[in-house]
Amino acid sequence: MEEGLNNCCCESTVGLTCEIEESSCPVCKTLGSKVKRVTVEHLVLESLTELVGDSDYYLCMNEECNVVYYNKETSFSKRQVKVPIWFKNGANPKYACYCSKVTEEQVINAVVNDRADNMKEVLRITGAMKDAQCEKNNPLGKCCHHIIQNAIDKGLSMRQ
Ligand SMILES: [Zn+2]
Repeated sequence: MEEGLNNCCCESTVGLTCEIEESSCPVCKTLGSKVKRVTVEHLVLESLTELVGDSDYYLCMNEECNVVYYNKETSFSKRQVKVPIWFKNGANPKYACYCSKVTEEQVINAVVNDRADNMKEVLRITGAMKDAQCEKNNPLGKCCHHIIQNAIDKGLSMRQ
C-alpha cells in the first residue's frame, strides 16, 4: 500500500483525479474494489435506483464497515442493498453463489457431509452457478467461482 501512495497523482498533474483517494471508502478509508454501475443499479433497493447515476462504483471490502457501494457522488449502506454482502459482519444468509442463491453453508455441507471433493461435484450437488448472471447478482459483479472455491477450501479443512 505504501508504494501505491507514493505514486499518488494528487500533487502532480493538474486535471488527473487521484485514484487512491477516489477508491477509498468515505467512512473507513479502506481501498475498495471496482464495481460497474449496472451491478449497483441492480442491487440497491428499488426506491434508490434513481440515485445510482452514471459513474461506476467501489465496494468497501472492510467486513466491519456499513458502507457497501460508494463513488465520489453517492454511497449506499448495507441497509440500502437487497442482498447481504457475504464478507460483511452479520451477513445472513451468507451466499456463495448469488445467482442460484446457494449459501456458503450449503457448499461446506456438500464438502463435509456429501464428500464432494472439487468444484464440479459441489456445483452438481448444490446447483450453484446455474443460470449465472453474476454481473447483475453478485455484489462484485464478478463470477462467484472464487467465493465458492473459498467455501470448498473451508469445508476441506474442516474434514480433517
Ligand atoms: Zn468502508
